[in-house]
Amino acid sequence: MPPPYTPTRAPGTWDVIVVGAGPAGATAARVAAAQGCETLLLERASIPRYKTCGGGLVGASLAALPPGLPLKVHDTAGRFTFALNGTKTRTLTCSSPVCAMVYRSELDAALTEVAAAAGAEVRDGTALTALEERDGTVTVRTNSGDTLRARAVVGADGSASRVARYVGVECAQVDLALEAEVPVDPRTAERWRGRVLMEWGPLPGSFGWVFPKGEVCTAGVVAARGNPVALRAYKEDFLARHGLLGPRPLHDTGHLTRCRRPDSPLSRGRVLVAGDAAALVDHWSREGISYALRSGDLAGRAAALVVAAGDEAEANAAAAHYGRQVDDVLGAEMRASGSLMRLFTRRPGLVHTALTRLPPAWRRLDAYIAGRTSVAGIMTTPVARTAAALADRLP
Ligand SMILES: Cc1cc2nc3c(=O)[nH]c(=O)nc-3n(C[C@H](O)[C@H](O)[C@H](O)COP(=O)(O)OP(=O)(O)OC[C@H]3O[C@@H](n4cnc5c(N)ncnc54)[C@H](O)[C@@H]3O)c2cc1C
Repeated sequence: MPPPYTPTRAPGTWDVIVVGAGPAGATAARVAAAQGCETLLLERASIPRYKTCGGGLVGASLAALPPGLPLKVHDTAGRFTFALNGTKTRTLTCSSPVCAMVYRSELDAALTEVAAAAGAEVRDGTALTALEERDGTVTVRTNSGDTLRARAVVGADGSASRVARYVGVECAQVDLALEAEVPVDPRTAERWRGRVLMEWGPLPGSFGWVFPKGEVCTAGVVAARGNPVALRAYKEDFLARHGLLGPRPLHDTGHLTRCRRPDSPLSRGRVLVAGDAAALVDHWSREGISYALRSGDLAGRAAALVVAAGDEAEANAAAAHYGRQVDDVLGAEMRASGSLMRLFTRRPGLVHTALTRLPPAWRRLDAYIAGRTSVAGIMTTPVARTAAALADRLP
């Protein structure tokens, strides 16, 4: 029997470098550190940092948070108002109020603190500018002029990821979201308290949302990238119709969301990607926090296996295994959400009518929001399967 392999590190080489301290990166760093890896978490911004995001945590996200995470929830939505281009408005009540509204600056800072408590070193204000791999070591260059080395790298650097470019991530869908954080007066706050608005929009595959956070509402619109003028006009109209255009927004920003092609790579050599960097986002709702938390967990574990590998073949096998695990855990949800998105893009009125008029359809969505089923669970019902199959045949 060969002696057990003890990984050795050249001086100054980290076991794992994680790039990006969002939910994916903070989780990957926590998990890798908890596996005994010397882990460095690099973040371009200063923590806490703003991130364009609704900050709505569905059940799958809440279930994937580390136990006991100190997290400030600013509201919990138990009612959902659906509308079709401002018409056919209907409000439905969830079986339990579970959709937690958070500020991403607070959520991501809390996740990063837990990663640090697990032993990861956190270096904010430091961006990766380039990376390359040679002879079992990944070299990372940063904007501060440092050259860092690691035995494994996890790219969790978001939807404009440099690491994703290195890995060759390919997308099936790229959208642009425009969002404003709007302070609201007490009467408006009361009107939105505990209630989310989802309004299907005029552009193909688009919708607008209002998420309540007490004295602030987060409101925005999303549609396929490529028509920014129409999207801006849609956003102005949406905010105006819901009385959210007047107040000066605390933030008024735009951000891409990307959904991977099913065959897109998730690793290259000793470099893995997770979360938005891997383009793991629900095609329909653009929910991405649960994907980031779950793929970050898998990436942290896989990075530890890459570090412990006895040779390059073993390291490559551990990285490739990560891709298969992501597909096992998240693949069915991604495929189902792609199917729902095709149906929604072609027949938004049908999806709206099903959700608001067919109680079983709402019950499934309610169960998804609560984390009792996934989008795959919604799309396996006979009605959803038939509708999706018919939509796939439409031009
Ligand atoms: C408008 C909008 C609303 C959304 N609303 C919701 C919602 O309500 N609920 C939900 O579940 N999902 C939502 N999403 C999706 C969700 O925001 C993302 O899926 C989630 O943030 C992905 O987390 P992440 O950790 O992969 O990436 P991010 O949260 O983007 O974190 C990436 C981190 O990497 C850092 N970084 C980038 N480049 C570098 C570099 N070169 N070096 C070092 N650090 C770097 C960034 O500063 C950032 O901190 C929304 C997205 C948008 C655009």
